[in-house]
Amino acid sequence: MRIVVLRETLPGEARVGLVPESVKKLATQKIEIAIEAGAGEGAGFNDSDYQAAGANVTTERSQLLPAADVLIAVQRPSASYMAAMRPGSVLIGFLRPLDEPAELAPAIGLKLTTFAVELIPRITRAQAMDALSSMATVVGYKAVLIAAEHLPRMFPLLMTAAGTVAPARVLVLGAGVAGLQAIATARRLGAIVEAYDVRAAAGEQVKSLGGKFLEVDLGGIATEDAGGYARELSPEALQRGIELVTKHAKTADAVITTAAVPGRRAPLMLTAEAVNGMRRGSVVIDLSASTGGNVALSRPDEVVVTNNGVTILAPLNLAATVPYHASQLFSRNMTSFIQLLNKDGQLNIDMTDDVVGASCVTHQGQVVNPRVASALSVSAAK
Ligand code: NAD
Repeated sequence: MRIVVLRETLPGEARVGLVPESVKKLATQKIEIAIEAGAGEGAGFNDSDYQAAGANVTTERSQLLPAADVLIAVQRPSASYMAAMRPGSVLIGFLRPLDEPAELAPAIGLKLTTFAVELIPRITRAQAMDALSSMATVVGYKAVLIAAEHLPRMFPLLMTAAGTVAPARVLVLGAGVAGLQAIATARRLGAIVEAYDVRAAAGEQVKSLGGKFLEVDLGGIATEDAGGYARELSPEALQRGIELVTKHAKTADAVITTAAVPGRRAPLMLTAEAVNGMRRGSVVIDLSASTGGNVALSRPDEVVVTNNGVTILAPLNLAATVPYHASQLFSRNMTSFIQLLNKDGQLNIDMTDDVVGASCVTHQGQVVNPRVASALSVSAAK
């Protein structure tokens, strides 16, 4: 099996699909690894680090794709890259199958096998492959640092000769992986943290990190699906959350929003009214901008300052701003996933495997994932 990693081409994308530590590990498993020169530079890895780990580093990008059995990419490559791959070869990465299914249509005609890391099931066996959690961890952490940088206040409670400095108050909306990491980071900086999530199960986790969990009566409706994700709420249930959040935003210095429902538009959590009720100088970080945003006034990748002096940021690719660790975690996730496709150095795709089958979008010219098939108006392969 030959795995190829190219330099990512999306502007601002500094991550890389494999880091040298993973190359070293894969090279002991009868796997050949070819890396495009400079692929790791943005993340802090030199070509010589890859060579020392056992990779073949080349500047000839055009030769890499036709020779690949597997392409590991952080971002979905363009259609022209896919067209350069051989039929039957494999593409793995953040392919955005549910948000942008049409972009994967070329893989059908080209007979590529595509695995979207977003679809890797969150079962115990696949924990080491969970790239969504890896990136959410990085993003939750970085969001707090950005909030701290924009806030005209400090985070910790300080007792100084000039008197006491009150700690910052942080409100986190959505307490999944990113939200919990944001809570932990804000707590480490000394903030007082409140958090809201529709899943009652999140409450214990928020409390264990030293945060206060905000509860609202949603009338006993099911808010969580079998996979542990939030369900899309009725407008009434959503409204109750919005009212609670509007009230608590008034006293927050920073609001970090992470609420998401897989394959759906992000729920609107912080209305214009809520932002207008916030204090001058306070900061909002909307981490759901790529799926429509949780904040009415946020604009993707822009800094908005409202009339009442609230700064709103909605970074689209925060993980890429911590490229060393984001790449390291992603690379480890991919190395674990590759174990499922490697049989004694040969590519072996077992669609009956519950992780391989579930994460596959297209295989042998057919769409395998039913949601993607329905979005593309084709029938899903059985
Ligand atoms: P996510 O990114 O899909 O959503 C982020 C959070 O937003 C979730 O906690 C969700 O409940 C919340 N949310 C959605 N709609 C909301 C609304 N209207 N108001 C408030 N909050 C709202 O979620 P995620 O971080 O990927 O994790 C989802 C779940 O999966 C969590 O329970 C997490 O612990 C679990 N998980 C399990 C594993 C595993 O077992 N391997 C790995 C990762 C995550």
